[in-house]
Amino acid sequence: MRQTWEAGAIMKDDEIRELGRAKLSDGTLLNQIPVIASDAIPGAPTRILLEGGGPFPDPCTVCNSRPTQVRYPPSLTFHDRCHAIWQDEVLKSRHLSN
Ligand SMILES: [Zn+2]
Repeated sequence: MRQTWEAGAIMKDDEIRELGRAKLSDGTLLNQIPVIASDAIPGAPTRILLEGGGPFPDPCTVCNSRPTQVRYPPSLTFHDRCHAIWQDEVLKSRHLSN
C-alpha cells in the first residue's frame, strides 16, 4: 500500500473545503480557532497548545488521511493545507453571521 504524505496528492482544495464545511456544521470541527497558549499573554482565556512540525500519526480531522503536521491536543489534527482551509472557513462563517 502506497503511503500518502500529503492530502494534496489525492484531494483537491475544493474537496477538502467541502469536508471542512460539513464537519464545521456537524460539530466535528470547532467553529473558532483555538487561542494559542503563550506565556506572553497572561490570563489568555483558552490554553490550547498548537503543536507544529509533525509528522504526527493521528489522522487529519478534515480529510482522515495521515500523517499530519499540525495538532491541537487532545483531538484536532491537520495537514498544513487542511489547517489553512479550516481557518479560512471559520473566518468566512464568522463574517457571514455578522
Ligand atoms: Zn487533511
